[in-house]
Parts: sequence; structure tokens; C-alpha cells
Amino acid sequence: MSPGKPPLSKGFTLFQLYGITIAVDYSWFIIFGLVTWSLAIGYFPRYTPDLPPALAWSMGALSALLLFGSVLLHELAHSYVAIRHSIPVERITLFLFGGMAQITREARDSKTEFQIAVAGPICSFALALLFWLLTLGTRHLVQADLFVLMFGYLTTINMALAIFNLIPGFPLDGGRMLRAYLWRKYGDFARATYTASRVGKGVALALIFLGFVQIFAGNLIGGLWLVFIGMFLQQAAEAGYSQVMGRELLAGLMVRDFMTQAVITLSPTMTLEQAVEEAFFRHAHICYPVTDQGTLVGILTLDHIKEIPRQEWKERRVQEVMSPPTAENTVSPETSIYEVLAKMGSGGTSRLPVVQGQKLVGIITRRDVMNLLQIRSGLRGADSSLPLS
Ligand SMILES: [Zn+2]
Repeated sequence: MSPGKPPLSKGFTLFQLYGITIAVDYSWFIIFGLVTWSLAIGYFPRYTPDLPPALAWSMGALSALLLFGSVLLHELAHSYVAIRHSIPVERITLFLFGGMAQITREARDSKTEFQIAVAGPICSFALALLFWLLTLGTRHLVQADLFVLMFGYLTTINMALAIFNLIPGFPLDGGRMLRAYLWRKYGDFARATYTASRVGKGVALALIFLGFVQIFAGNLIGGLWLVFIGMFLQQAAEAGYSQVMGRELLAGLMVRDFMTQAVITLSPTMTLEQAVEEAFFRHAHICYPVTDQGTLVGILTLDHIKEIPRQEWKERRVQEVMSPPTAENTVSPETSIYEVLAKMGSGGTSRLPVVQGQKLVGIITRRDVMNLLQIRSGLRGADSSLPLS
């Protein structure tokens, strides 16, 4: 299908390939069973009426496995192009509606995005061609009817996969190609994603509508299938869009927009006992900047204190146990919020002192960032017809 995050995380790992984890979600067994069943009960017996059931089921299962291989190759084609552009691919998951390559980051330019997206359908077209040639090749062989039928089925299904994925609704491959085109045209990634997701949602609604038409026309299974695919696509379009929204919300925001200027500080000559009583017990933060006449000289955390036996708290001073300020544990007012969240993530801290030169000018906490982001996204969400710009 298309690069993105798998909607489900249950399942098991099959094997590793060039550093990519190939995994199967449990929901994939549903499609495997359905394909095997419909081929064994319907497709093969229709053209070879005297077929023993055991053989029909074996051929059904073999065809389903080759379909699995085709979907996997489609995802590997996306992954191959991504890796060629030094975008790492973590995982390929096969699930109910096909496959997904979990690509670690977005492409940096529209051309790369287009190439990654188009690789999947090209691979499926190539597979359709290959299976069609195999159909021609086996047609004149004696007693090869079942293989002719199987290759014929795989030709059709790969062709269908290629065409379906070319529908220009995000997050289908065609939608990603459309986004790449719009990205180039507008020069604005978020706006391109917005438009491509809108088309994606439109496609999803059309599929759901078609599904209901089919159900009322008496084709219950086929109709339900379309409805489910439509619902899945709609969710995926929504999710893909909000991912970009989140990034867009963060873009251009800096520490100075979020920081608190009134900071509780410690003095380096305080004893640990004083620090515990005056700061840790009273304000319930787990980390405090240590300043000397306004200059940040260190950071004292609860962990530092816990390392010192309690009976030594009266003698030991803050400056003996604190960490010195470094580029990792401080930020400046001009640091982007992106970087702040990355530092908080890697350092495992939720509070960072803000320094200008060496002067302490404030503190930024994860909670402040999250609250403000929530408010901003809430206000944006209030008018969802507003394109981002
Ligand atoms: Zn794809």
C-alpha cells in the first residue's frame, strides 16, 4: 500500500532483510484465509470442475503465499528507493489491507517523495507482467492448467494492486505522488499534505458509498470489503494529516514562547539539607538550576541528592554534587521547540534551564510545551477548513 505507520502493532517478526524487520500482523491471517478459501471454493473449481478438494486448497494457499510475496516486494520497492536516499526503513508490516513500510522520516524534497511513492506501483506492474509471461509460458504445457490459472490470478491481482495504489488520495501511493506534485507546485509541504489528504478522504468516502451500493445490490462480502477499506483509508488520511499538523504547529516556535521567567534557584553554597527543605519539599520539582549572581553554575536533581546518604546532607554543599551546565542540559531562548523535545527525550528530563550566554533567564518544562500545543491545535481544529500555510 504505502509508507506509513502500521495501524496495529500486534503480530510477529518473520525475518530481517537489509536491517528491515519484516513482520506479519495477526489481521493478515484473515486475508490469507479469505484468499485461500475463495480460490479453493470458487476460482479453481470453476475452471477445473473435477479438481480434488485437497489440491484446490493447496493451490489456493500457494496462490495466497505468492500474493503475500507480491505485496512484500511492493513494500520492498518503496523501501529500496527510500534507503537509496538515505532514509532508513525500520519495518515492513503486512496486515489486513496489504502492507506498510515504516519509513523513519519524510523525504526532504518532492522529487524523492515522488520516487519513493512511484516505486511500489511500478513493482506491482512489473510483477503483473512477469506473471502474465508465466501464464503464456505454462499455457502449452501438459497438465499445467492449475498453474496457468494461478499465474493468471496473480497477474490480475498485481495489476489491481498497482492501479488501486495509483488512486490519487493520500496516503495511497498515488496520493503521495499527488502530494509530491503539489509540494513542488506550492513549495509548501503542509499545504500539499492538506490537499492530498482532502482528496484521500474524498476517495475513502467514495469507496464506502460504492461499498453500500454493492451491499444493496446483493454483493454483501465485496461491498463490506469496500466499506472497510474506505474506513481504513479515511482514518489513515486523517492520521497522516495530523502528523504533519503536529510538525507544522511546532515549526517556528522557540523556547522564548514557552519558558517561565520566574525560576526557583538554588545557591551553590547551600547545604543539601537546605536545598531539600527549601526547594524539593516545597515546590515538588525534581530538578533546579543553581545560580551564582544570576549566572548558571549547575543543575541539581533529585537523583543527585538520592546518591548522598542522608546523614551527610547537613555537611555536603550543592556545588559538590550538582552537574555542571552543558550544551545538552541547557537551551537558549532561540532554541526551537523541536530541539527541546528531542533533548528532553534523550536526556530523560522534563525541565531545562534557559540561558543567554551564561545568565539564567528562565526554565522550560515539558508540561508548558504540551499545554500550549494543545491550546494551539485546539484553536486550529476549530476551523478545519482552513488550509495551513
Ligand atoms: Zn505502495
